[in-house]
Amino acid sequence: MIDLRSDTVTRPGRAMLEEMMAAPVGDDVYGDDPTVNELQRYAAELSGKEAALFLPTGTQANLVALLSHCERGEEYIVGQGAHNYLYEAGGAAVLGSIQPQPIDAAADGTLPLDKVAAKIKADDIHFARTKLLSLENTHNGKVLPRDYLKQAWEFTRERGLSLHVDGARIFNAIVEYGCDLSAIAQYCDSFTICLSKGLGTPVGSLLVGDKAYITRANRWRKMTGGGMRQAGILAAAGLYALKHNVARLKEDHENAAWLAAQLQEIGADVMRHDTNMLFVRVGEPAAALGAFMRERDVLINASPVVRLVTHLDVNRQQLTEVVRHWQAFLQR
Ligand SMILES: *Cc1c(COP(=O)(O)O)cnc(C)c1O
Repeated sequence: MIDLRSDTVTRPGRAMLEEMMAAPVGDDVYGDDPTVNELQRYAAELSGKEAALFLPTGTQANLVALLSHCERGEEYIVGQGAHNYLYEAGGAAVLGSIQPQPIDAAADGTLPLDKVAAKIKADDIHFARTKLLSLENTHNGKVLPRDYLKQAWEFTRERGLSLHVDGARIFNAIVEYGCDLSAIAQYCDSFTICLSKGLGTPVGSLLVGDKAYITRANRWRKMTGGGMRQAGILAAAGLYALKHNVARLKEDHENAAWLAAQLQEIGADVMRHDTNMLFVRVGEPAAALGAFMRERDVLINASPVVRLVTHLDVNRQQLTEVVRHWQAFLQR
């Protein structure tokens, strides 16, 4: 199977599995798991922040992040299409009584700061208290402009807001910026990392921030059922991923660009490609395309605009096959 639905479909390879099998473990709810502790320490060090927390999923990491920034009756300003507004089942509102204030993102994935400013509520009993700005990097594959990160940071300092970045794919941004994680992590109070997407682990995310914040987050993680026991076997995969699978993300980006060019060449309507994602308008025949590909062992999300995602389990040769099948579909 060539699976282009998402970078979440990657499977642990032998080297990663061996690290997992060899991992020293303990009960992480007691803080006793040396491998979890090492992953958290290492992530904090890479980020230039004080502390990190290992969680089962990115969704829980974002939920815990929001719960640790905002209290009941407070709000966060967030993009309409942001994962932690649109795709997390309203968790912050349901479980935290935290009100989202969504706004439209600009074409480059940023939340324009004048539009953010216009949504900050006055101190008035009618309003929720605006507490947090939440950004996403990358957003639908788009790398936020580096100078925007600094502007958003300075803006939130001036306006007394905290700044969270959903960095599920932050390392896809990092390999494009060509800088260290700490160089951009300095421009937020907290951020998340998904280990289970392009980095290739089976499970796991991280939330990074200062010590007091991560201490609060640890309580919320326990309350939301994310306190795991001998989680070192999972953290070992995360350590492996951070050490071996970051630089290679560049290959995924090159593959996405290559696939976009090839599909364009055969007459497909490629709308854009950014980092490891491309978007192809197929319109009406989406279901037929999906079925056609499925019969040829290629998995795609069959929707009018197909998002194709490259990752460590698809290589150039497999993508060549995909292009061949796509062309056959267009010529059928
Ligand atoms: C995938 C994703 C998440 C959530 O991660 P899960 O581990 O699937 O819960 C959060 N934010 C963004 C931007 C994502 O792409």
